[in-house]
Amino acid sequence: MSNRLTLTLDPQALATELSGHHLINGALVPAKSGKTFDVINPATGDVVAQAAEGDAADVEAAVAAAKAAQVEWAKMTGRQRGKLIGECGALLTAHSEEIGRLIALETGKALRTESRVEAGVLADAFHFHAGLGSELKGETIPFSPDMLTLTVREPIGVVGAIIPWNVPLMLMALKIAPALVAGNAVVVKSAEEAPLAVLRVCQIMNQVLPAGLFNMLSGFGPECGAPLVAHKDVGKVTFTGSVETGKIVYKTAAEKLIPVTLELGGKSPMIVMADADMDKAIAGAVSGMRFTRQGQSCTACSRIFVHEDIHDAFVAKLKAKVDAMVMGDPLDEKTDIGTIISCEQFDKVNGYIKLGKETAGSVAHECSAMPTDEKLQKGLFVRPVIFTGIGNDARIAREEIFGPVTCVIKFSDYEEMLEQANDSDFGLAATVWTTNLKTALDATKRLEAGFVQVNQNLVVQPGLSYGGVKQSGIGKEATLEAMLEHFTHKKTIILNMT
Ligand code: ADP
Repeated sequence: MSNRLTLTLDPQALATELSGHHLINGALVPAKSGKTFDVINPATGDVVAQAAEGDAADVEAAVAAAKAAQVEWAKMTGRQRGKLIGECGALLTAHSEEIGRLIALETGKALRTESRVEAGVLADAFHFHAGLGSELKGETIPFSPDMLTLTVREPIGVVGAIIPWNVPLMLMALKIAPALVAGNAVVVKSAEEAPLAVLRVCQIMNQVLPAGLFNMLSGFGPECGAPLVAHKDVGKVTFTGSVETGKIVYKTAAEKLIPVTLELGGKSPMIVMADADMDKAIAGAVSGMRFTRQGQSCTACSRIFVHEDIHDAFVAKLKAKVDAMVMGDPLDEKTDIGTIISCEQFDKVNGYIKLGKETAGSVAHECSAMPTDEKLQKGLFVRPVIFTGIGNDARIAREEIFGPVTCVIKFSDYEEMLEQANDSDFGLAATVWTTNLKTALDATKRLEAGFVQVNQNLVVQPGLSYGGVKQSGIGKEATLEAMLEHFTHKKTIILNMT
């Protein structure tokens, strides 16, 4: 695959070109069974392509290719490998508009606010990890004067990466870039709802990387993901997805005694104190709740605790901001908010909205407006909803909805509120909004979450450790330490010189 790929900015043409393939050992190939499944544009309901329906036989081929390619890759220096990952980053930058358009087509995420941004972040994550190639260092240990004692970092071998559909490219990059730089080969299993952009990225990277080093399979979880986790030659699994599936993956990996990284769900609190800068907090709630991604984010601030003194003003301003957002065709530059990913998620989200409306005391503030365009009438659009009048014990405040639904919970007592903020099965992220330094410091120390911010709501950043506690997962991503910890073994070497 050494010929440069041409840019294809028409996402439907690209979808058709990629249709029906895995990428194994450097080549686009159909599933061994010949089976495929539909890839659907959630904004129109149209079938845009077929995806290869992988099973254990495809897993076998992909892992064998990865195992063979890894041997020579591991012999290269980390710096050389990093250089090639940097070249992948440059190529991905060149293809970013194309990739952004494809991800918008298959996921329904708006191009301007989400999909194009994700394509850019993808390339950025490659550039960040490219620079870590020379940092695969060990230690020397003053164990004995007659012995030279040191540790070295060695790659694990073949890494299995299982990714979700909400931000598939960015989440994939945080796995495959460090795994490859550390000297591993990778097999990625894409989410069934979003296989095309992942396949395109794999194809682009295979222009630079040796055949077999990075392979991509599409298929369903139990039929394709499970045999990847269970394969005897897969020495590490890195997974982002639901808590339920994460636990299944963990159990299978436990049988093989292999390390696992799990990035799972969230029900992240946003705390708005009475002294907060209101406009900043409103902007933070809009971005933190990921309204432009239809709330389909494990980090979404889906519990917003607002002090009673400013509660009503906060709700009114937040509603006005979300009302001004445009729902529509994901590929239209005017669109802020696209669609839910699939009919299954659409039903789930609407089920939670119904449940919220039935919750005693609740008020549902429905925002924005449904698109009127004729061709979007079958689209999976859901109007964002801000719930007020409910407590932290309501089901919609406890369970992960993964949709454009947030709960604004009024509080008066700081201690009580903090207890409620921590009273969650999850512990992924949290934000605090205050102009009081003492409150900020106190809350950041006491909040049970892996990623806590004050007066801002940034998304995952390369270089900043990301990951949760409690049911939100095991292991962190996005840093040098994460690469060393999750994608290498530490070996101790002792030379006795007596
Ligand atoms: P969601 O419910 O949002 O689709 P999942 O956790 O089921 O989240 O999916 C995340 C990823 O895990 C997807 O790529 C999916 O195919 C995969 N998956 C689902 N079930 C399994 C399984 N039993 N073993 C391995 N991977 C799985």
